[in-house]
Amino acid sequence: MVARYPGRPPTEDENRLASQAYEQILRIQGLDVAIMQLRHRSDGHPARARLGELGAALAEHDESVAVIEQRRHELQREQKRLDDEVASIEARRRDVDGKLYGGQVTASKELLALQDEAASLLDRQTRIEDDDLVVMERVEEIEGELADLADRRAELERQRAESQAELDTALAEIRTELEALEAERTVAVEPASAELLERYESLRSQFDGVPVARLVNGRCDGCHIQLSAVAVDRMAKMADDAVVTCEECGRLLVR
Ligand SMILES: [Zn+2]
Repeated sequence: MVARYPGRPPTEDENRLASQAYEQILRIQGLDVAIMQLRHRSDGHPARARLGELGAALAEHDESVAVIEQRRHELQREQKRLDDEVASIEARRRDVDGKLYGGQVTASKELLALQDEAASLLDRQTRIEDDDLVVMERVEEIEGELADLADRRAELERQRAESQAELDTALAEIRTELEALEAERTVAVEPASAELLERYESLRSQFDGVPVARLVNGRCDGCHIQLSAVAVDRMAKMADDAVVTCEECGRLLVR
């Protein structure tokens, strides 16, 4: 942005040089520039960017947590399956033990077969319980990871709340300043020449909000072009509140 009066209205000295009609327009331009800068300060406040980054970090964080929770869920299902299998082997072993020691089975061949089955069931149960232990350890590891991730999330949330509070405070200050400037502008507009104000308004967007330039030694300080002696002479003869524009760039000229 090319601001001739960055962040401040023109000084009294500057204003004294202008006719009253242009003085008023310069005052309005100064207020408008200050208002524009406040809006930029609001839009470009660094806390906004930080909030965006933290929001993205939280979303990414939650995605990783969801993946890990899904993994834990699968492991817990695996654990349940192994536990169920152990329970069914135990039931079968109780059944075999009942037959072995119940006294109904007496044939040695049948007893041997039952002993083999009991041994192989115990063997299988031990293997499954070992697997179960591995799965259980993995679930514990994952729970540790999830606890760390929960801490990390709390930290991100804390930072987000901090940035939000910072932004809210800044915006409240900006709003107060804006309200004051806008009230000042309302007062400044009243005595302004309607014709000059209309021209000023229509030129604002074209000149980045600073459509009023000064004529300094016959040179427009907006476009820095030396105006012809004829044009300068003609301008000098015009009324104090006449709409005078630079013939080169079209800015309103303060003579
Ligand atoms: Zn010019």
